[in-house]
Amino acid sequence: MIDFSHKVALVTGGSRGIGAATVKAMVSAGADVVLHYGSNRQAAEKTADEAGHAHCHLLKADLNEAEAAGELWGKALSWKGQIDIVVNNAGVFEAAEVGCSDSHWREVWQRTLQINLIATADLCRQAINHWQEKGVGGSIVNVASRAAFRGDGPDYWSYAASKGGMISLTKTLARAYSADGIYTYGVAPGFVSTDMALEAFELDPTLRERVVSEIPMGDIAPPSQIANTICFLASGLATHASGQTIDVNGASYVR
Ligand code: NAP
Repeated sequence: MIDFSHKVALVTGGSRGIGAATVKAMVSAGADVVLHYGSNRQAAEKTADEAGHAHCHLLKADLNEAEAAGELWGKALSWKGQIDIVVNNAGVFEAAEVGCSDSHWREVWQRTLQINLIATADLCRQAINHWQEKGVGGSIVNVASRAAFRGDGPDYWSYAASKGGMISLTKTLARAYSADGIYTYGVAPGFVSTDMALEAFELDPTLRERVVSEIPMGDIAPPSQIANTICFLASGLATHASGQTIDVNGASYVR
């Protein structure tokens, strides 16, 4: 039985998609949640309304800014004076064709690594420093991707690299801090029915059919499937899984 009573979680990218489903699942299991968003206040408010506004604290931060993750941590901590769980979920999936301009190439690589990987590492660092100073444990769940293991399409080198980095980070933190009661896990979704996937399907009209044809379960995953996996890992019911990444991809890629 998953019970987040008296727990405070910070969920990045909680406004939409997988993050929104995670906020709702965590609040329904008793958590208070810092609901971080990038720019979409309306979506963040809607998620908080659906989850239970009294148990959500909305914080805006553009994780493309180098200082944003540190500032977000400070504000998040000051809400209840504790954070027990960090879910690094906010992310971007941006294309850069191999023949694109140098400036576009650099922009996509820098933005993707900053938001998906560096901001994740910054929040992990803040959380670990805080938990170690307090002498308490905590849990981190990093939302990576199937692309970390399988690679991605030809226009998404930087996305796959950023997600591979999240997996290495997850393993490193688990090895370093599990003995202190600080557990770090990864989740690697395949395609999930969110704006991120739907925007990719709009850009390439045959993509959805190609993606679904590779999924034995016959469709892309609803966000709740990823949210349930995140909650299970964050719950403390399987701490010996620290360092592991759970695939949730409809058996489209079985490692
Ligand atoms: P989504 O629906 O596009 O939502 C993205 C979330 O990230 C939003 O909450 C957004 O905030 C936030 N975000 C984006 N750019 C940001 C920035 N610069 N600063 C702060 N926050 C920012 O995406 P999703 O599908 O739920 O994806 C969530 C995670 O799952 C991502 O890490 C993604 O890589 C991973 N994933 C997704 C899929 C998939 O098929 N959907 C597959 C594998 C892995 P706003 O709402 O304020 O814009």
